[in-house]
Amino acid sequence: MADFQNTFSWSHSRHLMFNRCRRKYFLNYYGSWGGWNRDAPPEVREAYIQKKLTTIPMWIGSLVHDAAETALKGLQRGRPVRLDHLLDMISDRARSELEASQRGLWRQNPSRVTAFQEHYYKVERPPEAWNKATAQIRSQVRHLYDNPVYLRLTQVPDKLQEVEGLEKIDVGGIPVWVKLDALVADGRGGLVIIDWKTGTSHDNAAIATQMGVYGLYCADRYQVSPEKLIAMHVNLRTGKQLRHPIDDDGLERTKQHVASSSNQMLNMLRDQDSNQATAEDFAMLAAGSAFCSRCRFRGTCQRG
Ligand code: SF4
Repeated sequence: MADFQNTFSWSHSRHLMFNRCRRKYFLNYYGSWGGWNRDAPPEVREAYIQKKLTTIPMWIGSLVHDAAETALKGLQRGRPVRLDHLLDMISDRARSELEASQRGLWRQNPSRVTAFQEHYYKVERPPEAWNKATAQIRSQVRHLYDNPVYLRLTQVPDKLQEVEGLEKIDVGGIPVWVKLDALVADGRGGLVIIDWKTGTSHDNAAIATQMGVYGLYCADRYQVSPEKLIAMHVNLRTGKQLRHPIDDDGLERTKQHVASSSNQMLNMLRDQDSNQATAEDFAMLAAGSAFCSRCRFRGTCQRG
């Protein structure tokens, strides 16, 4: 596999992890680096396997997002995917991922095979928990096909500008990764940013920041003024949708947020030019923290 360079970039999820636990941030972005190589040092390889662990809510989110991507790309290609076909595809995938995780196939190939924390840490879950998760995925895919936003897109598929494209922008000299679930032209020179949500609770302040980053991306890449941008998050669990205003002040606040968050991260490095970090500079949470008991790195930290 190619030798990649670990270069610094900012993302909203990186910011959330940095604020949650400094050691988790280190293990995720530095301590597991290179662990995709089978001959990596054992502690790096193990941290990489842990980095790739998923949870039931994360898995639901990932499969529902992938189903939405398949549906929207089908619309873009002029070959809409039938709901029953999509439900069969996603159910087959859920079954095979669950089975592969149970069999531990991820140990050989952690970057490609789904691994649940439950199987890595040998936490028993009753069969109903897995059945419920699969039922939730199917329910959310059905909600997608009933959702007014999606139904509108089926009528104007040519207005879809982007679906799940991973892009990098420069915010005040800091590279920032952005991935929009969907971006749609409104037909009046503006753009609508669509973000699918799949969880039970979402922090509105965090969503506003995330939407601000999306706004910066659209303003930069499409040269659209903020008042012509609408950000909308659509919860496929509840069917509720919420609009977030985007304006010049909000974009300026987002720029300041990226600058201050990335400065804090960079100031913790031993060498900013080569992006070198050392574990002991990144504090662990206090022993007994409830967050540790659910953390994917609890094996490395000997907290579970
Ligand atoms: S187990 Fe606790 S201390 Fe270790 S990375 Fe996770 S949250 Fe941080």
